[in-house]
Amino acid sequence: MVALGECVVSATIHRDANADLAQLAGKTIAVLGYGSQGHAHALNLRDSGCSVLVAQRRGSANYDRALDDGFQPLDVAEAAGRAQVIAILLPDEAQPDVFRREIRPNVAPGTLLVFAHGFNVRYGQIDPPPDVSMALVAPLGPGALVRTQYVRGSGVPCLVAVAENETPLGTASPTFRRALAYAKALGATRVGAIETTFAEETETDLFAEQAITCGGLTALMQASFQTLVDAGYQPEIAYFVCVHEVRQIVDLVCQGGLSHMRKLISNTAEYGDYTRGPRLVTRETKAELQHILAEIRDGRFAHEWIAENQTGAKSFETLRRQLQSTPMEEVGRRVRELLQGND
Ligand code: NDP
Ligand code: MG
Repeated sequence: MVALGECVVSATIHRDANADLAQLAGKTIAVLGYGSQGHAHALNLRDSGCSVLVAQRRGSANYDRALDDGFQPLDVAEAAGRAQVIAILLPDEAQPDVFRREIRPNVAPGTLLVFAHGFNVRYGQIDPPPDVSMALVAPLGPGALVRTQYVRGSGVPCLVAVAENETPLGTASPTFRRALAYAKALGATRVGAIETTFAEETETDLFAEQAITCGGLTALMQASFQTLVDAGYQPEIAYFVCVHEVRQIVDLVCQGGLSHMRKLISNTAEYGDYTRGPRLVTRETKAELQHILAEIRDGRFAHEWIAENQTGAKSFETLRRQLQSTPMEEVGRRVRELLQGND
């Protein structure tokens, strides 16, 4: 393990000057899916001068949205067959099946497959034909932001990688240069495209969403809220302090790090932070973090999630239903109503 003191900033970040749109000249790019990422990629790439095709199922709101934006949506097989670069912006759990049935039979040698998340490549769910390369261009933000930042002349940073079987590996590979051009067309290199690997992007992303941003944070919010309500405090106040106020603290951390946030909170809050926080993250919690990471690295989590989807995602749907309508969510609705106009 690297001690904190040895931790150096080592990421390689590429900006506009390192990326050349000529890498995409004369190529048709098929954007598969017109959802959160798909619509933003298609519009940004088109506005950057690329030739873009969109694939989107009929009968969905995204189909009409693509039409409104001036695309003539095709089906996946046709779009894949007509492009030299294919951006697979379908939900991760749908990609393996659609790839096998509609993409793989139609890609020509020399095609570049672009992913916005590494999950399926990292866990061997995509088996590309020979002479087809794979790159990762993963925006560090939702599609809506990828689009609005581009329109404002800025961008959302992204992670860029080429598949581990690529030779030569890394920036020397032509695939990497094409991926960087894609990142430039997306607006990402206006801010920065950070070099990574499919494995690093996938494993760190899964770990962070399980440990903090989704799993850890929501579990702590729910347990803290419940503690106050069980002790007889008013649910609205419990919700406000345990859930709603998190955003203000996180905003301060994003602005200037933990020390900046700690300068701006009260001394009482700061003292509670130093003395109580570590009591929550105990030796057991740290062991559990290691355990969660191990399940990600050795593929157990992926295996579980893939199997869940292959069997109709029944337990996932049950969990979703149970957690959608908790008393805490009800209280949240009331608190937001109370605050309307103040956000
Ligand atoms: P969305 O759910 O927003 O959009 C998915 C698109 O795929 C929709 O157009 C949907 O069409 C279409 N689709 C779904 N199932 C099928 C299918 N079986 N056959 C054909 N088309 C289908 O996905 P995201 O944009 O969120 O995710 C796309 C990729 O981007 C994923 O790899 C994700 O991990 C990655 N990503 C997402 C981020 C985000 O913030 N959303 C951030 C960074 C990466 P329909 O409208 O008909 O359902
Ligand atoms: Mg993520």
